[in-house]
Order: sequence, then structure tokens, then C-alpha cells
Amino acid sequence: MPPKTEAELARERARMVDEIEVEVRETRKWTGRDRLSPRVIAAMAKIPRHRFLAPADVAYAYLNRPWTIGFGQTISQPYIVALMTELLDLEPDGRVLEIGTGSGYQTAVLAEIAFRVYSIEAVETLAERARARLSELGYRTIQVRAGDGHEGWLELAPFDAVIVTAAAERAPPALVAQLGPGGRLVIPVGRPYESQTLVRAVKNDDGTLASENVLPVAFVPMVSKGNEPR
Ligand code: SAH
Repeated sequence: MPPKTEAELARERARMVDEIEVEVRETRKWTGRDRLSPRVIAAMAKIPRHRFLAPADVAYAYLNRPWTIGFGQTISQPYIVALMTELLDLEPDGRVLEIGTGSGYQTAVLAEIAFRVYSIEAVETLAERARARLSELGYRTIQVRAGDGHEGWLELAPFDAVIVTAAAERAPPALVAQLGPGGRLVIPVGRPYESQTLVRAVKNDDGTLASENVLPVAFVPMVSKGNEPR
């Protein structure tokens, strides 16, 4: 098959956005969201997801599916990326911390909407690749670092929102601590390799969390320091 042209990829991307919007409507009973906000739709419609996959996988970039990115890791399903972004309720002046940069695709979506995005990735090679890719694509408001996301990014806290794109058995305490008052946390909670629940939590003024379960999901597990895949 000849490689797809940019025009074909753009058509596929528009179709992907339509599919996401249908899925958002179909899952509204769980998520409480009827539709995506215009800013989230615009980000999904703009970002060249094919640039976040290996060149051999470009043909699959606009399927509404997760895909492998090496190191046993995946780029998340586009619907999940859109939904998690929506659930963060980001403001244009918001600062967001992401744990699990992976390909950097979700990072780019966040950067289209928020003021600053800070992202931590456990696998150093993935962090480097994501940093290079995001910079090539012109993103200047993103900082990516390699490290263990369990600890968060203390020097830059507090954050308006924290998103975790790997599953944890519970929300890491440091991430909760680094969330500002009224801050939103979106995280898949559950045991590794079992079904997990996407949880959305809001930090109350007294520091406690108000959590709601959103949807069953399947994410790769959060790894701990020293156990990163190579
Ligand atoms: N948002 C990414 C999803 C990547 S999959 C994307 O759509 O491309 C989850 C990522 O979390 C993997 O890259 C994995 O290496 C990373 N990860 C797992 N445990 C982590 C930890 N403790 N700290 C930071 N990143 C972690």
C-alpha cells in the first residue's frame, strides 16, 4: 500500500473525532458528560496522532484504539484521551501535571487547552522521544522529564489538575498533596492487569478528596522506581 497522504490522514482524523463524539454520547450515563467541550474537540481534530506512532503504524493512527509504542507501553485510545481531558475541566490559564507521558499524544492534547503542561515518564527513552516529537511539532509550553510519577513534581506544585495515564492501586499521596484547592485528579484505579475504574476526584478546601467512579478502563500499570521496562 502506498503511504497515506496528509489529506487522507486529515479525513481519517475528522472521522475519528466523529466516532469519539458518538462514543461520548453513548457513555454519558457513566461519565455524566453529554458532549465534549469545543476546546477538547478542536484539540482532537488538530493534533496529528500519526506523528506519535512508529512510521510503520501510521495507517492505524486514526482508529479509535490504543496502539503499541514499544517498551510494553501503549498510546491510549483516542476516546479515552478525549474523555480524560474533558474530566479535568481545564481552564486556559491552568497548569496540569501528567504522569505517564508515553508517546506524548495526551500531553499535546493538554497543551492545546491548558497554559502549562508538566509530564513525567518512567521510561527514559520514551521521555526523550516524546520531548523531541513535541518540540518538533512546535509545543513550547510542555516540560517532560524522566522519573517516577508517584512522587509528582514538588517544585512546580500546586497544580490545577493531575492526570495519570497508568493504573495505580490507589491515588499516590504525593499527587493528591500537590493538587491545589478545587484541583481535579483523573486516574485509573485498580490492580495491575485487572479491570480498573477511571476515577475523577476534586480536592476540597480542607484537603480531602471527593471521588467519583466514572468508567471501567484498562491501562498498563504504574511502575515503581527501579522497575521501569527497558
Ligand atoms: N498518555 C500516554 C499513555 C502511555 S501508557 C499515551 O497516550 O501515549 C502509560 C505510560 O506510563 C507508559 O509510557 C509508562 O512507561 C508510564 N509509566 C508507568 N509508570 C510510571 C510512573 N511510575 N511514573 C511515570 N510514568 C510511568
